[in-house]
Amino acid sequence: MTSSREYYAKSFDLLQQHHKWFQEAIPLIASENVPSPAVREALATDFGNRYAEGWPGERVYAGCRYIDEVELVCIDLVKKLFGAEFVDVRPISGVVASLVVYTAFTEPGDVMMALSIPCGGHITMGKKKLGGTAGAVHGLSVEYLPLDYEELNIDVDRTKKRIDKLTREGRAPKLVAFGASVFPFPHPVKELAETIHEVGATVAYDAAHVAGLIAGGCFQDPLQEGADAVTLSTHKTLFGPQHGGVLSWEKHADKIKRATFPGMVSNHHLHALAGVTIACAEMLEFGKEYTRQIIKNSKALGQALYERGLGVLAEHKGFTESHVLLIDITKHGDGGSIESELEKANIIINRNLLPWDIKEGRHFMHPGGIRLGTSEITRLGMKESEMEEIAEFIKRVIIDKEAAENVRNDVRDFRRDYEKVHYCFENTTKAYEYVKIR
Ligand SMILES: *Cc1c(COP(=O)(O)O)cnc(C)c1O
Repeated sequence: MTSSREYYAKSFDLLQQHHKWFQEAIPLIASENVPSPAVREALATDFGNRYAEGWPGERVYAGCRYIDEVELVCIDLVKKLFGAEFVDVRPISGVVASLVVYTAFTEPGDVMMALSIPCGGHITMGKKKLGGTAGAVHGLSVEYLPLDYEELNIDVDRTKKRIDKLTREGRAPKLVAFGASVFPFPHPVKELAETIHEVGATVAYDAAHVAGLIAGGCFQDPLQEGADAVTLSTHKTLFGPQHGGVLSWEKHADKIKRATFPGMVSNHHLHALAGVTIACAEMLEFGKEYTRQIIKNSKALGQALYERGLGVLAEHKGFTESHVLLIDITKHGDGGSIESELEKANIIINRNLLPWDIKEGRHFMHPGGIRLGTSEITRLGMKESEMEEIAEFIKRVIIDKEAAENVRNDVRDFRRDYEKVHYCFENTTKAYEYVKIR
């Protein structure tokens, strides 16, 4: 029988092994990043044991003197980074932020439009029958935004026609959600905002993936282009801890605040909020340089993989304008098995549906694609020449079918030069160094 002390020791041992693994791996999951040591310090503070329901200065709990000030600094920084009039930093994740927006702007039974999951949409935008948040939790009836497969972007003309048709059928959308989990090119917010507003719908923009790029001034500016509400995850291209947020206009402040509390959060993960505050200060200082490099790296990685025979999509558009690349790997296997082969070589990516996969009978476990993101490797200080090296490692596994162990040894050696977090004020602690308290 395992003793409590053994469980205790085993848990720490597993945590340390995870850290060691990531120190020796190439992290290419597009939704992930590595926070600075300063953000990790904030995460370990007593803030994470406190409650602060309500708005700063109007809390339901005592003991919030410093918590309130940190939250106000956070709001200030987020307003600066995104040019937003109103900001709520209490939603504890991107999914919760989306639920806040659905609650503030729609009623169950309303029609919402968003991309389908194979076309890059997220489970938050999913239909009821898929168990998605919009359908299964808030009772919205989800209609799909049409995707242009060549351009890997929302088709403006077909979207206008679809809104028109739904309106004629008496099912005009109440909310149209831009944004995606495969988000290589800025969405046509400017081109569609007027049409959407004309039918009385809200323009929502899910910036979970691209929040950092927007804050760095390197993508699009959804609020200026016509969005009513923008939702954030704070840990994808934005390099904070896992948390969420909503950006909007002063006129919508009350309903968003109310949807957040009492609607969606009681405690709002105050240690994470402190971490977001520090990450936003880092973004304000280094965000421009960091996001420019992300985009250079994605384009370079796309080109290097393409030249080595991999089916990187959207070649005619330079592959991507963000941190993400989508690759058709059907010539070499299926997404599921390639994901696990690469993992054996310490290259961490994820399998991904291609927009046409379901129609061609492929399934999420074995889709035709893989998705790569360059945010974390950029944060580790890698530049265009390292993208060539990474492309070569990937080719050796996927195309040459070289034994994963061989490649893993070379990946480990390669990683020794990239142990620190860049684009932050202090980095004496290494990126994946285990913080020891015993
Ligand atoms: C990742 C993601 C989310 C969810 O974010 P969490 O912070 O993990 O809850 C929401 N929307 C999109 C488009 C995403 O890619």
